[in-house]
Amino acid sequence: MAEIRNVTVLGTGVLGSQIAYQVSFHGFAVTSYDIDDAALAAARDRFEKLAATYRAEVAGAGDGKAERAASRITLSSDLAAAVRDADLVIEAVPEDLALKEKIFGQIGEQAPAHTIFASNSSTLLPSAMKASTGRPDRFLALHFANQVWKYNTAEIMGTDDTDPAVFRAVVEFAETIGMVPVELHKEKAGYVLNSLLVPLLNSAIALGAGGYADPETVDKTWRIGTGAPFGPFQMLDVIGLNTPFNILVHGDDDAKRLAAWLKAGYIDKGKLGVASGEGFYKY
Ligand code: NAD
Repeated sequence: MAEIRNVTVLGTGVLGSQIAYQVSFHGFAVTSYDIDDAALAAARDRFEKLAATYRAEVAGAGDGKAERAASRITLSSDLAAAVRDADLVIEAVPEDLALKEKIFGQIGEQAPAHTIFASNSSTLLPSAMKASTGRPDRFLALHFANQVWKYNTAEIMGTDDTDPAVFRAVVEFAETIGMVPVELHKEKAGYVLNSLLVPLLNSAIALGAGGYADPETVDKTWRIGTGAPFGPFQMLDVIGLNTPFNILVHGDDDAKRLAAWLKAGYIDKGKLGVASGEGFYKY
């Protein structure tokens, strides 16, 4: 297995910028690809903000290390050039299967034969995309969480076609960049974390929407009963209420009722969570 030295990240949005920065911070050569100059200018801003965050929050980020991690990242809007020397490509483009298939199809022809491809998709299974890569044995999901420097899980999930040696190489890479690898033995929508979290959050919303208990009571029960530091409504405030709303509103009738409760009681009143200053709690 060729050593991973050069890493290319596709997409410089919320997650792509964080992944690229984290990989650069840990000493790898990183190329960040996005569609045009405007996106790349926004990326440069994101890297500078991340440098400031790391300086404030991450041990060992002082003495110019945080700034160097940002300035070392090569930015490119030329896809073929961006993947030409890549040992690993991590895809973090918008959550749209057709778009991801298109970009994997392109780099499948442009990247060297040894290059490993990984998708950071939260909701699409790697088997849905593997054919488009032209190299299903060298393809898997590598899923980061928002605020990678703090919530440092890296969920790693292959398909039936993923070469076990590729899986191991990506597990080792995740460790090297300061992540805690979470290995899935087979494909699962939601990986480990969201398989646990989403039902918990939905059950909490159902307790509130059904009038069984108010959010404070639900959270207090969860905290005391499990020793967890936060209850589900506190977590929902951090995530932002639009995210569960957008998922629930596309679900079955029960889910739609939960979405309607979130909308009428909170979202329509501008209570979107921590980011808006108020959600289930005031901040
Ligand atoms: P985002 O919208 O913030 O960023 C997407 C980026 O992709 C943008 O910079 C955009 O310019 C770029 N882009 C658009 N079209 C492109 C194309 N054709 N080729 C290359 N780049 C293109 O999205 P995000 O929140 O960073 O999510 C990206 C992926 O990461 C998704 O698959 C999502 O499921 C996953 N993810 C997101 C989070 C999260 O909390 N936001 C967490 C884990 C995983």
